[in-house]
Amino acid sequence: MGENRRRRDAYNTWDVIFLRLSPFGAAALLAAEVLAVAETPWPARRRHSEDGLRPGVHELKDIRRWPAEPVSPPGPPDPSRFRAALSGLCEGMATARAIGHVADNVREAAAEAGVDPFLLGALVYRASRCNPRLQTPFGIGLLQIEPRMFAANLHGGKLVYQVQQGEAWAERTRPLPRGGLHPMLLEEPRHHLRVGAALLGMWQDQHPGIDQAFAGSVPHRSAVAHFGWGDVVRGTGGEDRAFTARRRLIERYLDKRPAPHPTSLGIAVVSPLQGTPRVAPSGPGEDREQGARAHRGLDIDATTGEPVGSLADGVVWFAGFDLPGRVRPKPVPPEELGQTPRPPMGAGGLFVCVRHTEGIFSCYMHLSSYRVHINDRVKAGDCLGAVGRSGVKSSGSHLHLEIHVKGDAVDPAPILGPELVIPPQDTVAHELALQSKKLRLKHERRVRWRAHLAARKDASARRE
Ligand SMILES: [Zn+2]
Repeated sequence: MGENRRRRDAYNTWDVIFLRLSPFGAAALLAAEVLAVAETPWPARRRHSEDGLRPGVHELKDIRRWPAEPVSPPGPPDPSRFRAALSGLCEGMATARAIGHVADNVREAAAEAGVDPFLLGALVYRASRCNPRLQTPFGIGLLQIEPRMFAANLHGGKLVYQVQQGEAWAERTRPLPRGGLHPMLLEEPRHHLRVGAALLGMWQDQHPGIDQAFAGSVPHRSAVAHFGWGDVVRGTGGEDRAFTARRRLIERYLDKRPAPHPTSLGIAVVSPLQGTPRVAPSGPGEDREQGARAHRGLDIDATTGEPVGSLADGVVWFAGFDLPGRVRPKPVPPEELGQTPRPPMGAGGLFVCVRHTEGIFSCYMHLSSYRVHINDRVKAGDCLGAVGRSGVKSSGSHLHLEIHVKGDAVDPAPILGPELVIPPQDTVAHELALQSKKLRLKHERRVRWRAHLAARKDASARRE
C-alpha cells in the first residue's frame, strides 16, 4: 500500500496545480488516473522527492511555438573554446579552474556516450550551476542525479533498459564507470558526468517509446524532459530552460554577436538576453500588488547572473537604486555597489536605463549588479549588468524590461519581435494573470454596486 499511497498523495498535490494550469493538464491527469491500472512495461521511474517540482508558469500554452533548436557545431568541440563558453555560463558559481575542469569532463563524457556536449553542458548549468557538491532533495551533484530513480536499471555494473522496436521491447545496455550510482562517487565530477551522459543516452534511446507506454505525460519536446522528470513528464519548463541554456552555450562557443534588426521606432535592436527566443511570461498592464498598480514592462524569464545587454546603441542615462515610495531613484557608480549598505529598495531594485535617441529609453530592472556609469556610451549588445531579483517580492529572478517613447511606457514585445521574445499571450502565466485580474475587477464591481445600493437605501430612508 505504501507505494500506492505515496503516488496518490503526489497526485493530490498535482491536482491543484494542474487543474489551475490548463485543461491540458487536467486531461493528462485524468488520463493518468484512468491508466494507472493499465499495464506498463516497468513501474514508472520518478524522482523520489517530486513534491517540490512544479510545472513553471513560464511554460508555453503550446510547445509548438518553439522554433527548432540549433544544431551543434560539427565535430568534437574545441577544448579551450568549450571551457570558455561553459565558464561564461557558470561565472561566479565556482573558480574558473574548477569550471574548466568540469567543461573538460563534459566534453569527454559526452563523446564517450555519444550525446551532445552542448546539451550535457546546458544540463549541468541548469541543474547545479556547475557546482559538483550541490545536494538537494532532488538529487546529487552536477546533474542532480537521484540514484534511487534508476535502481531497476542497474545490472552487473551496467545500465540495462528496454527500447521499443515495433510492437516489442528490446534490451539495450550502456557501460557505467566502476562504482555506478554510488552517492559518494557522484560527487566526483568525472565520474558523475560519465554516469550522467549514459543516463541522457538511455533516455534518448528510450524516447518516444516511453511516451506511448506511460500515459499522463504533458506534451513535451524531447528526452530532456524525462531527464528531469522520469518516465512521466509533468511540465515542460525545465526542458525549455535547458534548451535556452544550450542556445546560450552554443552562441558563446561560436562567439557570435547577433546583428541588430531595424524597428518601427527607428532604432536597430538586439535581444537584451542571449539564447533567443526568450520567454516573457508577463507584460504591461497586468496587475501588481493586487491591482494597486499596473505592470509597466515586460518580464523575461532568466537566471540570476545572466548578462544583460543594451538592446540598442545609446548612452547610459541612469544606473542606481529604485527607492520605495515616490522618491527619485538614487544614482550609484558601479564600484560603490558592494560598499554602500543598500537602502530598502523600490520595486525596480537595481536598474540601468539607456537613452537611445531623442525621447527613446530602455530600462533594465531587478539586476544583481551592473558595470556601467552614467554617460557611458554603449553599443547594441554591450553588457550592462547581470540578471537578479533586487526589488522583487515573490517571483523568481527575471529581467524586467521597459521601453519609453516620449515619456510613455510601450510594450517591448512587438518591438523586439517574435524571433527574440515569446510574448506573454503564449504563456500559461499570462492566462493566470488575466483570470485573476478578471476576478479582481468583478469583485471591485460588486463592492461598488453594494456601496451604491447602500447609499440609495440611506437616501430613501432619509426621504421617509
Ligand atoms: Zn517523452
